[in-house]
Amino acid sequence: MIDKKHIQYFNNLVGDENIYSDKAHLIAYSYDATRERFEADAVIFPRDEEDVSNIMKYCNQNLINIVPRGAGSGFTGGALPSRGGIVLAFEKHMNKILEIDMKNMVAVVQPGLINMDLQRAVEAVGLFYPPDPASQEYSTIGGNVNENAGGMRAAKYGITKDYVMAIRAVRPNGDIIKAGKRTIKDVAGYNIAGILIASEGTLAVTTEVTLRLIPKPKMTKTAMGIFPSVNDAMESVYKTMASGITPVAMEFLDNLTIRAVEETFHKGLPIEAGALLVTDVDGNLEDDLNFQLAQIEKVFRENGCSDFKIAKDEKEASDIWFARRNASPALSVYGSKKLNEDVTVPRAVLPELLEKFYSIADKYNINIPCFGHTGDGNVHTNVMVDGSDEEQVKIAYKAIEEVFQATIDLGGTLSGEHGIGLAKAPYMSMAFSDEEMNLFKDIKKAFDPNNILNPTKMGLD
Ligand SMILES: Cc1cc2nc3c(=O)[nH]c(=O)nc-3n(C[C@H](O)[C@H](O)[C@H](O)COP(=O)(O)OP(=O)(O)OC[C@H]3O[C@@H](n4cnc5c(N)ncnc54)[C@H](O)[C@@H]3O)c2cc1C
Repeated sequence: MIDKKHIQYFNNLVGDENIYSDKAHLIAYSYDATRERFEADAVIFPRDEEDVSNIMKYCNQNLINIVPRGAGSGFTGGALPSRGGIVLAFEKHMNKILEIDMKNMVAVVQPGLINMDLQRAVEAVGLFYPPDPASQEYSTIGGNVNENAGGMRAAKYGITKDYVMAIRAVRPNGDIIKAGKRTIKDVAGYNIAGILIASEGTLAVTTEVTLRLIPKPKMTKTAMGIFPSVNDAMESVYKTMASGITPVAMEFLDNLTIRAVEETFHKGLPIEAGALLVTDVDGNLEDDLNFQLAQIEKVFRENGCSDFKIAKDEKEASDIWFARRNASPALSVYGSKKLNEDVTVPRAVLPELLEKFYSIADKYNINIPCFGHTGDGNVHTNVMVDGSDEEQVKIAYKAIEEVFQATIDLGGTLSGEHGIGLAKAPYMSMAFSDEEMNLFKDIKKAFDPNNILNPTKMGLD
């Protein structure tokens, strides 16, 4: 618990209406999308960058922990105040689009802006911001940048880091830094924006982001391929990507996932199929889209695809996407406890990766349904067990460790999207050497020598 005099200081600084320290509100800000929960001593809504700087300087001098928070939709506990202190929330004041620069195709935004609000605003003027996490309706640009969020369009358009041109941020000592520029090229000095992206609020508080925009493609088409085995589908993924066609999305569901969606939603999915691939292509000409789909169909069929369906209209496209979008909730048919990971490997080793996961499931006699963004080599791996059975839960954690090891052995990473936070901190030493962890810790010390900014996250403590 921090001293009342500190709360009074913050009250004086930002005004009563911009600080919560009552129990009800502290509980409301104690969650994210994990099941963990930690209460802060106060939640503060800075009005501008100067407030952020003053708050941080004071916290640094008085050794008060600070946790920046977007929408709290993170899956790894990044926004949870695990050691109490102050939560800095941006949804009230620092949530605006400051500028859309049409000539340079750039948007300048505040960290609390909701991803979808940005997408709508730029699309209204014919531009496009591709990163579209499934949480796009509520997650914020500050959270997206600090987790380096990806989405369904990453196979073609990349992820948040590919659109960040510059970041304004405040270091724990109150210093305001400007990292990056509104230029396509910038090779002067260290790439500090690159270090801040995916830093999970452990190095500095993001106060403004300059994002690259692109022209909006005029049309999109959707198709689905049905495969007898996961192996055939995985072979098709990397062969399609290497064929000269770059689909917007290349999403995958395995047999267990198809069965779960069908059992839950009764959509007439092919429950005998080994796997489904859902793909989108986009562009400006109908002929171009048809050409892309014909090429994809060719690669799919050469690799065992038994049925290839192209959506005739938006309704059919949305029916095809339904299974993929509802895969995660449907998996509860396999157990009340889900350990959901988002490991990522180079695309060409996806067939081996999936094979390893299914042999881990066989070894422990549990279900590990998998689905995800296979166009990016990113697989949502779901270890499902009965949460009321302690033995099963122990087994699930053992299985997860083996899932991580298999991923690392194949040159992959612990997380392609959700970050490390608290949830994956114990596994960092599997993925990084002592020397690499020491370098991370040195970088953390250079920004935050007193370890007041989001402590306990990313295995840095
Ligand atoms: C249903 C659902 C679907 C999801 N789908 C996807 C998906 O498709 N792709 C994907 O990548 N993720 C996905 N996520 C995870 C999550 O939405 C993303 O990680 C998102 O980027 C988090 O944004 P947020 O605003 O909720 O941030 P929070 O969860 O509040 O915070 C995330 C991290 O960013 C830090 N942070 C937030 N704001 C700032 C700031 N201004 N300065 C410094 N640090 C800051 C926090 O301290 C924390 O470490 C999903 C989550 C849910 C619940």
